[in-house]
Amino acid sequence: MTKKHKSALSVKKGVKEVNSLNEKSVSKFKQIKKNTKSVEEYVNGIKNGEITVLSQAITLIESSKKEYFEKAQEIISECLPFSGNSVRIGITGVPGVGKSTFIETFGMHLLDKGKKIAVLAIDPSSERSGGSILGDKTRMEKLSAEKNAFIRPSPSAGSLGGVARKTAETIILCEAAGFDTIFIETVGVGQSETVVNSMVDFFMLLMLAGAGDELQGIKRGITEIADLIVINKADSDNIKNATRAQAEYQNALHLFPPSESGRNPKVVTASAENGSGISEIADLLEDYFLFTKKNNYFYERRSKQAKFRMYETINEELKNRFYSDKKISNKLKEFEQDVLAGKISPYAAAQILLN
Ligand code: GDP
Repeated sequence: MTKKHKSALSVKKGVKEVNSLNEKSVSKFKQIKKNTKSVEEYVNGIKNGEITVLSQAITLIESSKKEYFEKAQEIISECLPFSGNSVRIGITGVPGVGKSTFIETFGMHLLDKGKKIAVLAIDPSSERSGGSILGDKTRMEKLSAEKNAFIRPSPSAGSLGGVARKTAETIILCEAAGFDTIFIETVGVGQSETVVNSMVDFFMLLMLAGAGDELQGIKRGITEIADLIVINKADSDNIKNATRAQAEYQNALHLFPPSESGRNPKVVTASAENGSGISEIADLLEDYFLFTKKNNYFYERRSKQAKFRMYETINEELKNRFYSDKKISNKLKEFEQDVLAGKISPYAAAQILLN
């Protein structure tokens, strides 16, 4: 995907900084080797808003090594009392819809208002491709040059459940470091949007006018969990189409039951490229958070999410322990063969292995 850069952008100092961010993410090993700080040093660094320390601590969270995991858990526990003071915004949409452009433009707008922004990603494709939706160097170069913005690519290893846990924990550290607006980006395919929805206060769906639902990979489920639908690229020749799509989606949303938040989802048009509609979206969000904090929905949603995370972690951990058990893995293939040969029923085989 090529981006249309304004000429001034290409000479921005920020380009260099994006490079170093990506180098960091690929040389995690080197970074971990330098991670000899004590838990207290990590926690103090994070609370002082030191980005390098924050990055190193996140690397610990992402590590699969037991000793790093344990250290990370201590850091998270210490940071927990200083977390929570933010708004967490989920953004989804198919590749090319304009997510990174939108986050950049919206992020710059929020920085102007004095906000501190962290951008995280959950990328279900990174496991297979080894890439990451935030790994591309050309993405969000303006935002990444800003000292009040922190951009972290998706952890590239592990199951979706594992990535979800790591992201939820990274949110805690970012909040303790003083970031008050957290964006969590994901591609609107697979299960990742459900996972993202389980950790955000507001869920935004980016769409394009003229592209059929199927083409956009949007399942009915996503439309239902969206708090806001943004028809992006509403600029030049596309404005008319975007406005028409807006009316169509708004009509379709009327068919859904009223939202638990007390605020029904809206559909707006915007251009992440020229900035139109962006300040309206910022106002809309501000109003949403004021409203849902007043009627308590904001806090109830977070409590529900915490409960969900606990059960998710238990489920994930039980599964991991079962499959990583030596005795089980030795027997698993054997039982599989027996099931295939019709010697034992799948249910009975599962019961024996579980027992
Ligand atoms: P992502 O894959 O969803 O993150 O999409 P990108 O942000 O990388 O954008 C994909 C392409 O669409 C890029 O070439 C952008 O320059 C372009 N784009 C993004 N937002 C807009 C917009 O509002 N209007 C127009 N005309 N192009 C846009």
